[in-house]
Amino acid sequence: MIQDAEILVVGGGPAGLCAAQAAAETGAKVLVLERDYAPGGQLVKQTHKFFGSEKQRAGERGFQIGEDLLKEIGTNTRIRIMTETTVLGCYEDGVITALRGNKHLKFRPKRLIITTGAAEKFLAFPGNDLPGVYGAGAVQTLMNVAGVKPAERVLMVGSGNIGLIVSYQLKQAGVEIAAIVEAAPRIGGYLVHASKIRRAGIPIMTGWTVKQVLGDGQVEGAVICQLDDKFQRIPETERKVECDVICLAVGLTPLTELCWQAGCEMKFVRELSGHVPVVNDNLETTRSGIYAAGDVTGIEEASSAMVEGRVAGYAAAESLGHSPEIAAQRREEAIGDLRQLRAGPTGGKINAGIEKMKREGGAVHVNLYRYSH
Ligand SMILES: Cc1cc2nc3c(=O)[nH]c(=O)nc-3n(C[C@H](O)[C@H](O)[C@H](O)COP(=O)(O)OP(=O)(O)OC[C@H]3O[C@@H](n4cnc5c(N)ncnc54)[C@H](O)[C@@H]3O)c2cc1C
Repeated sequence: MIQDAEILVVGGGPAGLCAAQAAAETGAKVLVLERDYAPGGQLVKQTHKFFGSEKQRAGERGFQIGEDLLKEIGTNTRIRIMTETTVLGCYEDGVITALRGNKHLKFRPKRLIITTGAAEKFLAFPGNDLPGVYGAGAVQTLMNVAGVKPAERVLMVGSGNIGLIVSYQLKQAGVEIAAIVEAAPRIGGYLVHASKIRRAGIPIMTGWTVKQVLGDGQVEGAVICQLDDKFQRIPETERKVECDVICLAVGLTPLTELCWQAGCEMKFVRELSGHVPVVNDNLETTRSGIYAAGDVTGIEEASSAMVEGRVAGYAAAESLGHSPEIAAQRREEAIGDLRQLRAGPTGGKINAGIEKMKREGGAVHVNLYRYSH
């Protein structure tokens, strides 16, 4: 049986929850499908205080923002959230398939909002399949969600915000950080995070990388080595590091499988961290009726993911004729909030990426498989 849905949101992270909230606010009925056992996306594991603008809840801890969003949404009868439901397919006739337990479900939404977030990147080196080599997301989940101390001594690879924040949280949990190695000649994350790490006495080694894992059946250490300005290993710079976990924080890439499947036009944009769907200002993809918001449109931050969710939610509701004037006004306000968020120095890279996506992709609506209106 195919179930009808007015607006279907894939993913219950900050972008998905805000999209649902915005669409429901203007009168639409929304179904959110989330593969995890609880909604919240990345927010559930973020115990640190957020940056950004006050309007987007800077100064609050990520998990608290997630809890508040869920509280607000919980009282809205127009929103239904189905957890432990993984969307598998997005078909030409507009049918969406999902797996819940051992049940295969089918939906035919009038509008689809894809907010699937991102996947962690990995590195290739000998021994990277041994137990003890983790992505930073897994370490954060173990530590901040499951309450498990994931290691005694960690080698962190990557000095972006995630590598810096997770290192600090590990230190707070009583885990020793042997070092943070960073292939680039500069620290990637914000100075404020790097300063905290330095004050904690953790060395940040720029121009270094992990060469191989040491250990029989599990991580017992690592060999690190220095890199030249072309990222080539410099011979005879190898050093042994004792550790029981190697944590990779080497970036995220948009999780766009559903956009590809749906036939959305895709572009590789380095500044947005990978292939992204081409979208217009309302975050509608080149497949009419399908919107994308949050990290799936380019790796950024929860603050912008929430505002993007709102833009897509209002736009989808407006296109279905729900309080069109109010929805249009709030959508415009949200677009203004996005511009403001990206106006600072940290927005430069994203703005350049969006420009490139639009210039090279030209957000043209192909209307191949138009959703019902
Ligand atoms: C360590 C760390 C620190 C950070 N610090 C900050 C910060 O200080 N400030 C800030 O603003 N941002 C921060 N961020 C970034 C922020 O967490 C992300 O940008 C934000 O969560 C993106 O929101 P999203 O909704 O697009 O994706 P996500 O939060 O990743 O949510 C996507 C959701 O979609 C679900 N999903 C995926 N595929 C499917 C499918 N096929 N079917 C059903 N469900 C699916 C996932 O389970 C997930 O719940 C940080 C990130 C990390 C990892």
